[in-house]
Amino acid sequence: MRKVIVVVLGLAIAASVAACAQPEAGSLQAATAALGANQLKSIEYSGTGKWFQFGQAPSPTLPWPAFDVSSFTARINYETPAARVQMERIQVVEPNRARPAPVKQQPIQVVSGTYAWNVAAPPGSAAGTAPVPQPQPAAVEERTMEIWTTPHGFLKAAAANNATSQPANGGSEVSFTDAGKHRYVGRINAQNQVERVQTWIDNTVLGDTPVEITYSDYRDFNGVMFPGKIVRTQGGYPVLDLTVSAVAKDPVVDIAVPSEARSFSPPPVTVAMEKLADGVYYVKGGSHHSIAIDQNDHIVVVEAPQDEARSTAVIAKVKETIPNKPIKYLVNTHAHFDHSGGLRTYVAEGATIVTHEMNKPYYEQAWAAPRTINPDKLAQASRPATFETFTDKHTLTDGHRIIDVYKIAGSGHNDAFAMVYLPAEKILMEVDAWAPVAANAPPPQGPPSPFAVNLYDNIKRLNLDVKQIAALHGPRVATMADLQSAIGRAGTNPTH
Ligand SMILES: [Zn+2]
Repeated sequence: MRKVIVVVLGLAIAASVAACAQPEAGSLQAATAALGANQLKSIEYSGTGKWFQFGQAPSPTLPWPAFDVSSFTARINYETPAARVQMERIQVVEPNRARPAPVKQQPIQVVSGTYAWNVAAPPGSAAGTAPVPQPQPAAVEERTMEIWTTPHGFLKAAAANNATSQPANGGSEVSFTDAGKHRYVGRINAQNQVERVQTWIDNTVLGDTPVEITYSDYRDFNGVMFPGKIVRTQGGYPVLDLTVSAVAKDPVVDIAVPSEARSFSPPPVTVAMEKLADGVYYVKGGSHHSIAIDQNDHIVVVEAPQDEARSTAVIAKVKETIPNKPIKYLVNTHAHFDHSGGLRTYVAEGATIVTHEMNKPYYEQAWAAPRTINPDKLAQASRPATFETFTDKHTLTDGHRIIDVYKIAGSGHNDAFAMVYLPAEKILMEVDAWAPVAANAPPPQGPPSPFAVNLYDNIKRLNLDVKQIAALHGPRVATMADLQSAIGRAGTNPTH
């Protein structure tokens, strides 16, 4: 018996002598060995927690709004590379914020190489419609980032991109830049665990947008060391807070790129002009619209949605329709990214941004961020933004036509929320408070949206005489009767 122990000790000493060639604890090499990152080909992890809707904060001073996640499964193939994330989530309705009743969402988001797509029923299709792949080329960057910021993915990417390393807090800080110009910085602790990864991805509003993922509560999940807790922030606020319940090592993750994604080419940006009144044009796009107003010696545009491509196309069409006048003002309804992603193009154009006072410091801070990943026209023009802000009401005039910008007070959608009214033409412009359905479509079922009820209450409170509602989402110009009907307050159909 004693002899056996001596032999075992001898082996242990031999092993520890060999360990001198092993990497120092807390180094990139030690973490790679400890997590088995070189051998791992694929991973699946699942859990529950919270997901947050990036870019849709209910106020410029609040975090992204939260959703409860009842199931979350990510499957990653590090060799393809490819990933599929499926979750079930439902929005958390904050106290003191009236929102439409939340509906359960079951998104499936996939990336493989340079293709990204969602698997979902087509928008507006009947319940039970079979899901189909919907190409999402703009999501490739973010979903690829999600692969290479996982603990194993980070270690693999560090090895593949000649990472540099320096001692930090008993471990090391490892950094590299990938082929797509994305910088990654990871922190490895003394236990050889990847405890934090930072990177930056492009965003229309925030520029080089910081993404930071912290990993904690590492344990052995059926032969693979993996964190039990994952918290990801994007643009300074959480986007995912996951408690991991199960991990599978090297599952088969076979993700074929569907033909819908492979053959997809983005449709050209379309701009259609519809005259609403003399000098007032509805500037329609696929999903997001603007308004152009021909003033005496300048142009006012309401809303700069989506991105620079949309703004560039809208500006060209507006200048063609209203020649030889500068765009002096861009009126912004709110800071949600799909409604503010095109603002910087107007700043580069020389326009003053008219927005609620809460939004100005938000945009100033966001627009001061570096834009190295995708420099836009404003980054190249390097022109300071100018603002005109308001608390409740702001009037723009050329001495002839009045344009009134009002705060939409008390909306659950956003706290710094504007609508625009032309008192002579009796035209109201709004977005995200209410979107009319197509003229021949059945009215939506269920209780009225509190956002639409709030819009109606604001119109009444301000005594606005509205003949046309030019909604900046939706298929058509609507009337007050349409809005009244949508919220069950039609004059001919008293509900109380
Ligand atoms: Zn919105």
